Formats: sequence, structure tokens, C-alpha cells
Amino acid sequence: MSGKPLRALLIEDNPIHARLIEKLLEEVGSYDVALQTGGTLATGLEMLGRGEDFDVVLLDLVLPDSQEMDTYFRVRAAVPELPVLILSGIDDVTLASRAVEAGAQDYLVKTSLDAQTLGRSIRYAREITHAQRSEWNSPSFRLAQQQFLKAAELMSLDDNLRQRLLFPQRTQIVSFPFRRDNEQEVETVFGYRVQHVLSMGPTKGGIRYHPDVNLGETGALAMWMTWKCALMQLPFGGAKGGVRFDPTDFSRSELQRLTRRYTSEIIGMIGPDKDIPAPDMGTDEQTMAWIMDTYSQQVGYAVPAVVTGKPVVLGGSEGRSEATGRGLVYVVEEAARRLEIDLPQTTAVVQGFGNVGRNAARFFSELGVTVLGVSDVTGGIFNPRGLHLDDVIDYTRRHRFLEGYPEAEAVTNEELLELQCDILAPCALQGQIHGGNANQIQCRILAEGANGPTTLDADEILQDRGIYVLPDILANAGGVTVSYFEWVQDTQNYMWTLEQINERLRRILADAYERLAGRAENEGYDLRTAALVEGISRVREAKLARGLFP
Ligand code: NAD
Repeated sequence: MSGKPLRALLIEDNPIHARLIEKLLEEVGSYDVALQTGGTLATGLEMLGRGEDFDVVLLDLVLPDSQEMDTYFRVRAAVPELPVLILSGIDDVTLASRAVEAGAQDYLVKTSLDAQTLGRSIRYAREITHAQRSEWNSPSFRLAQQQFLKAAELMSLDDNLRQRLLFPQRTQIVSFPFRRDNEQEVETVFGYRVQHVLSMGPTKGGIRYHPDVNLGETGALAMWMTWKCALMQLPFGGAKGGVRFDPTDFSRSELQRLTRRYTSEIIGMIGPDKDIPAPDMGTDEQTMAWIMDTYSQQVGYAVPAVVTGKPVVLGGSEGRSEATGRGLVYVVEEAARRLEIDLPQTTAVVQGFGNVGRNAARFFSELGVTVLGVSDVTGGIFNPRGLHLDDVIDYTRRHRFLEGYPEAEAVTNEELLELQCDILAPCALQGQIHGGNANQIQCRILAEGANGPTTLDADEILQDRGIYVLPDILANAGGVTVSYFEWVQDTQNYMWTLEQINERLRRILADAYERLAGRAENEGYDLRTAALVEGISRVREAKLARGLFP
């Protein structure tokens, strides 16, 4: 099990029932639950009001200080967004179902409850709440829209186009089952595929497996893909997909079944001339191989070009798996040349030790940059004399996570971001650098490997403090650029060498950086604004050239 425990508040006055629930939650197995209990409605409401972030409320409706539906309505008023599960006795079922009619997510009869039912019910309650309330309402989608609107304003984008580009053109939400290894359980999860702009060619974008995936996050990532592809002058519009679950909790065979079923659910949307998925957080070469195989089985012949980022033996490109990290380091090299920084004299800190972060750290180290700290979901490690990257990578191969690495000091992810260094590369999740910590960031160059790691207010603070921000749609564009090379090789049945790939990748990224740096200087923009204006301008040009149907 990995990640943060799920935080549950139990409001229950009967100590025997409270103990029963506590015991069942300990046995849930597929995730950890941090439980707090309040014995009256007043204590429960006070705990909810303390600002602690609970994920779910387990509620007995009959309490010493509140009765029946009133209990539910008062909890609902206090936490309108939170999933509420009603705990009922066998004689209270009618009352419990009235609470579900009024908006509670489910009810459970305490006397016939087992750990599996309780665990799944909590998970589904969170799913339902997500699906009902927060699909578009995600911080990432708001960030992507605000960034777009800011750039649109500066470039006086035609209002018709502004409205059109503010939301994706096509979205598909699927909910689908897959069988667990024990053969008895069938889990149902939500999946998405979003295509933002279809005017530039096929759409292109990764597939994310993560517990926070929703329509808004997928839409934001699709929108960023549009600007990124346009900025790199690749013949694609932006897309993205994802499934909301934690892949670290599932076995390889479960991941395979889930991936194949997800592929068949979205199969009408994808295809080598339509929409070409690639890896993102939580997915990798193996995931792409399963998607390629499922698609090929459906059409009856092998279609390597339906995905990129697949194994080389299936038509994957040399250099694709490390291309995002490599590209990030190429962009930093260009920036360092412009800023007259001698890279072997510098230090770097990298957040996220997956595909992007691990490779970025490795390539920094190869250039002679001293990598002081890295982190993953379990926390960070820091060594003021520099980390031995091969040793760290070897440790994660054996232990999966960085936690417990002996040759460094443990730091939290928050502390890691605030370490003094020359280059900081956030390569994990979005929203990591925000108004609350932007003043404590101590780097000279912020190279965004992750998508959307910096909020709009943090961006302004960083600009004021003179931190040189290499924006995500430039700094992590190495991945989609080599994905483009892979697609070209697959459609031509002609393979390039690693040297050709890296040389072309460097040329495209250096050219994009020069265009941006030039535009930023001439028009007085920061690099993010310059990148967005550049990308949006190209999409505007294409849309105007095609005209409006009908
Ligand atoms: P990955 O799944 O390979 O790795 C993600 C890493 O982030 C893991 O080390 C994980 O432990 C860590 N992590 C997860 N939650 C964290 C948290 N709360 N705090 C700190 N670390 C955390 O994913 P990836 O492919 O490396 O993608 C990382 C980022 O880069 C994402 O934002 C993704 O959209 C972006 N990106 C990826 C690619 C690509 O080619 N894979 C391309 C462009 C952009």
C-alpha cells in the first residue's frame, strides 16, 4: 500500500459499534484508513469545523444530541462536498434510505457489515461524489483556463475563438469493471478521454492512472497538450486520458485487465489517424503495449502507431522512455547558455522520481550538475554533498520507493521544494508551487517537468523574485516530440537511430526556446506567457485557415 491514508470521521455514540467499525477499517486491506471518532453530533461537527481535511463521514443518525434526518441535514450543511455514509441498525433501514434519497452516498447495516463491503462502499461513495460534483471543478482546469485567458487577453484573441478554445471539443467518460485477482471481487472505476482541439491533425496525449483523475484534470492536461504541440510545431491537437484509481495498489495482471477494458471502452475515440495515447503518471511502456495489443486485436492486424511510448520491439522509438527528462535537461542547457551559467558548477533538486524526474536527475548528473535532493510520493532525500544517482536508482529498483535510502537525510516534499539550489525541477504533480510556498523557493531556474506544477499566484511571485521559469509546455515537451518521431517512424515503417532522435530532439527544443526567449524579450513577456501566446497563435492561424463548418 502506498500514499496517504484515507481520513474518515466516524460519528457514532455506541462504543461497541464504534469499536466494530474501527476493527473492520483495520481489515480493509486495499488502503489505509486514519479514523477519528466523535460520540455526539456536536463533537462531530466541531471536528469537521477544525479545518482538518476528512475524505468521508460515517454517520449514525440517532445520537444523544440529534435525531434522525436532522442529524444528516446538519452534517450535510457543514460539509456539502464530502461523501457521507449512513450507518444504520437493522430497524433503521427506512430512515437510512431516506437519508440516501436526501443526498447521502450510501447506507450500511452495522450488524451485517464486513470489511470488504465497508471498504468498497467508502471508495464508491468517494467516486459518486467526484462524479456528481467535481468533474470540471478541478484546480488544474481552473489553472489551465486562467493561463489561457491571460494569454488571450494579452494577444487580443478574437472572442469567438476564445470561447471555442476554453473547453475541449470532445470528452468521453466511461465507468467500467475489471476483475480482481481473487476472482470474486469486481471493481468499477471511472475513466476519461478528452480531445481539446481537432483542427491541427490527430490528437495526442498521455494516459494517467492516479486517484485524483477527473474530467477537469484531464481537460486541463488536454489543453496544455494543444499549446505544447503547437509550440513545438507538431501536427497534433491536444488530448489526454486517465483512470481514477491508485495503480500502486493493484497487481500486474489486474492492471492488464483494467487497461484492456479501458482501451475497449474508448476504442471509438482512438486510432493512428484520430487520437494517439502515450504514457503519463502511473502508466508506462507496458501499459502502451497492452493498449496497442487490445486495439490491434479489435481491428484484426497490428497497429503500432495507435500509441507512442511503447517498447522498441513493438515499434517504439529509441529514446522515447527517457525523452521527457532528457528534453528538460536540453532546455536547461539552452537557458544556462543564455544566462551564462556554467552547469557543472550548479546544483539541482528534483521532485518526483518516476519517468520524468528520475531521467532528468540522471541527465543532470551526467552533465556534472550536483543533484542535492530528489523525492517521490513517500518523501524526499537530501545530501548536501550530492546524491550518488546510480546508487539511488538501484535502491528504488530494490525497494520501489525512496523511503529509507541510507546515504541521505530524509526531508518532506514541502521541505525539498524549499532547498537552496540553482535548478529546481518539479516532476511530479500539479499545484506543488503555490502562493503559500513561492516566497520560500530558493532556486535560480525553475524547470517544470510536471504539467501545471505552478499556480497562477505563485507564478507572479516567482517572476517578481527574478526566478527564471522554464514553463511546462516547453520544459517537458521532449516527451511528445519523441512521441511524434515514434508515430512518424511507425507510419513510415522506418526506424531511426538514437543519435538521430536525440539530435532532432535537441534541435526542435533549442529552436522553440530561442523563439520564446526572443518573443519574451521583444514583447516584455515572461517565458510562460510567451510560450502560451506562441502556441495559441498557431492554433488561431490553423482554425482561421480551415474556417467554420457548416
Ligand atoms: P510517473 O508515474 O513515472 O512518476 C511520478 C513520480 O511522482 C513518482 O516518483 C511518484 O512517486 C511521484 N509522486 C506522486 N505523487 C507525489 C507527491 N504528492 N509528491 C511528490 N512526488 C509524488 O510519472 P511521470 O511520467 O514521471 O510524470 C510526472 C509528471 O510529468 C506528470 O505531471 C506528467 O503529466 C508529466 N509529464 C510526463 C511525461 C512523460 O512522458 N511521462 C511527459 C510530459 C509531462
